[in-house]
Amino acid sequence: MGKLYSIKLNIHRYDPESKRSWVQEYSVEVSGILRFTDVLRKINQEQDPSLAWMSSCEHAQCGSCSVVVNGKPLLMCELLVQNAVRQFKTTSFTLEPLHVAPVLRDLIVDLSQAYERVHKAKPYLIKPADPLTEGEEHRISPRLMEQYVEATRCINCFCCAEACMSSHRHFLGPNAVMASIVRLFDPREEEKEERFNVLYGEEGIARCHSSQACTFVCPKEIDVAHFIALAKECAFTSR
Ligand code: SF4
Ligand code: SF4
Repeated sequence: MGKLYSIKLNIHRYDPESKRSWVQEYSVEVSGILRFTDVLRKINQEQDPSLAWMSSCEHAQCGSCSVVVNGKPLLMCELLVQNAVRQFKTTSFTLEPLHVAPVLRDLIVDLSQAYERVHKAKPYLIKPADPLTEGEEHRISPRLMEQYVEATRCINCFCCAEACMSSHRHFLGPNAVMASIVRLFDPREEEKEERFNVLYGEEGIARCHSSQACTFVCPKEIDVAHFIALAKECAFTSR
């Protein structure tokens, strides 16, 4: 069962019907090996069924349970109580919804506009090249794949977008531009010019300040800032 912790959660709440926002405090006694999603479920079952939050796979694969805990964007399904106490050096936690998307209710946000930004970055092959041998699948050498495979682990949890230090309101955001950068290195992509226009355009990587906050918070441990830096380098070498 693990060590028991008495923790306090200050949760930012929002009721769309009355348009009221407030911070509600919950005190719970929980095992250190429970995750924050388990803690919220326990609150729903034992104290307040009206508290709304979002999760799906609860295996850090879908990116739906991102919230801001004590100022840091993270996945609730990955955060054990004992690790949170160690990491933040406290048993009091403030939970806020992501600020990069409009709040629907309590910790639930509407990610449709955020996903639109990812779509704008064209995270797909715009013009796939024909395979070298007709009728065969396209083969990519492991060495080439190594250069960008890390970026393909992105789950679009938007934690990096939340932490991003770029204040430019038109910036597509770190995960969106990284999804485009991946296809810049993908040998199957033939359409380079259109991709350059996305990456080096008004909403692209020129808006990045290279602060690396995106890398710091990524729950999939992707060096997001490194990929953006590679794309900045390409601006001088490939065009
Ligand atoms: S390195 Fe760029 S993309 Fe990453 S957080 Fe900083 S400004 Fe945003
Ligand atoms: S790069 Fe990391 S932090 Fe950003 S959306 Fe992808 S998984 Fe989340």
